[in-house]
This record gives sequence, C-alpha cells and structure tokens, in this order.
Amino acid sequence: MGLIYYNGEYINDNIAISPDDRGYQFGDGIYEVVRVYEGRLFTAEAHFERLLRSASEIQIELASTVDDYIAICERLIAENRVQDGLIYVQVTRGIAKRNHIFPESTEPVTLIYSYDSARPVQGMEEGVKVITLEDIRWLRCDIKSLNLLGNVLAKQQAHIADAVEAVQVRDGIVTEGASSNVFIIKDGTLYTHPANHLILNGITRKVIKRCAEELNIPFVEQAFTPDALYDADEVIISSTSLEVTPVTQIDDQVMAIGPLTRKLQQAFKEKIYPAS
Ligand SMILES: *Cc1c(COP(=O)(O)O)cnc(C)c1O
Repeated sequence: MGLIYYNGEYINDNIAISPDDRGYQFGDGIYEVVRVYEGRLFTAEAHFERLLRSASEIQIELASTVDDYIAICERLIAENRVQDGLIYVQVTRGIAKRNHIFPESTEPVTLIYSYDSARPVQGMEEGVKVITLEDIRWLRCDIKSLNLLGNVLAKQQAHIADAVEAVQVRDGIVTEGASSNVFIIKDGTLYTHPANHLILNGITRKVIKRCAEELNIPFVEQAFTPDALYDADEVIISSTSLEVTPVTQIDDQVMAIGPLTRKLQQAFKEKIYPAS
C-alpha cells in the first residue's frame, strides 16, 4: 500500500488498528474517495468540503481543514508516485470502550491511503449492466457514512446477477446506485434524483451538472420511477471511480448508448484534462 497516513503520522508498514475503534465496532465514521489523474487531485476541495459536512452531520469535530487534507494527499501522491489512482480517506469518531453513547473524550481517528487505479475505460466505452432492487438503507443517505451494510448487500446482489451496480428503488422512486448516482435522458433532458436525504450528493454528479449546462442539455433534479428508467432514451451511472458510465442493460432489458451520453463523457474528459 506504500506510505499511509494514520492518526497524524506517515507510516510505511502495517498500521495497528485498535479493537476499540468505533469505526470498527459501529461503523461510526465517514469517508471519501478522491480521484488522481496524471498525479493531480481531481475536485479534491469538493470532496473534503463534503467530508467536513458529513462529519458535522454526525457531530464529529474535525481539527483539520480542507487544505490540511489536500496537503496529506499530495504527499502520499508524491511519495507513492501515484499517476492514475484513488485516495481513500476515513475518519472515525475515535477509540473508546464499547458503548453506543458518544465517548466523553476521544479524538477522531483518520486514515488516508492511495492506490493505483486506471480509468474505467471498458465500462465507459461498452456500457454496463445494472439491476434494480429495493432501497433498504437508512434515511440519511446524504451522509457518506462508513455504515455501508445496505449498500454492500445491494452490490453483492448485483454482483451475483453479473451486474456492475444495483439501482435502488424506494417507495416506487429510483434513488441511486449502491455507490453511484443514476441519471436518465428522455427527449433531450437529463433527470436525476434531487440531492436530499435519500441520496449521496455525488461530486461527479455535480461535475455532470456543469457539463450539461455547458452543453445546453437541460438538467432536471426530479425523481423518476423504475418505469421511466426502463423507458429512458439513455441511462448513466456516475461516481468518482465510474466517471460517466452508460447503462446497456437494466435487469433483462437491453438499452442503447446514446449521443448525449457520449457528449457528456467528452465534456467530462475535458474537465479531467483541461489542457487537451
Ligand atoms: C460516493 C457515493 C456516490 C458517488 O459520489 P461521488 O462523489 O461522485 O464519488 C453515490 N452514491 C453513494 C451511495 C456513494 O457512497
């Protein structure tokens, strides 16, 4: 794994995790995944602003600023010689004898590491299969919480069905994937679920919104049904690691990759490589 940042230190070998870390016992913490392209961080400010927001929503007080996190990431990128990769960041509430109630005095525990990861070119080119299933998660999906059991169970069901993602449906409305946001294009308009407590407001989703605006594609934050998903002209899933990935199969139904998806992919690529 190369150099790792753990609890204020840069460590080169294995780190020791406390059995009393609340992240380990309760999933009591938050995380981010940040992209590195050609050795440079992509949309890192937005990711760390969201980390601070997630922390504040669950009443974890962080001493670090957005710039502090970026400085740590840049050191890891340099020392680990990351070109195309991802950075995983997690913060737990801290270490204390097991008890659901917040401990009186404990410091948050921060872990940051980097790893190599190529762009998902095959999925972006050829499209991927998704399945639909019931959204069984809690009602604060806007927090990027370490508690991912609902997401893990959904993703495993997708995996068993040879699909890349599980598109979740709550009360007859498509919310989002297990680790991605979901968009449909119908009659030239791009639709996605509003950024409320039922979805995680993706940074990639925000970049896609900007791309759509630049391309004069109407972007409407309006929930849609599974029927509208099946009936869409084009379907996209997005995340830091998936970028703009077209969906070519939903359950048993085959979908085509359309021209607006290709335009959004191109516009997204120009954000990654602004010089080219
Ligand atoms: C992280 C995540 C996303 C995508 O967010 P990005 O910032 O684009 O990576 C979407 N949904 C869920 C549930 C997530 O955890």
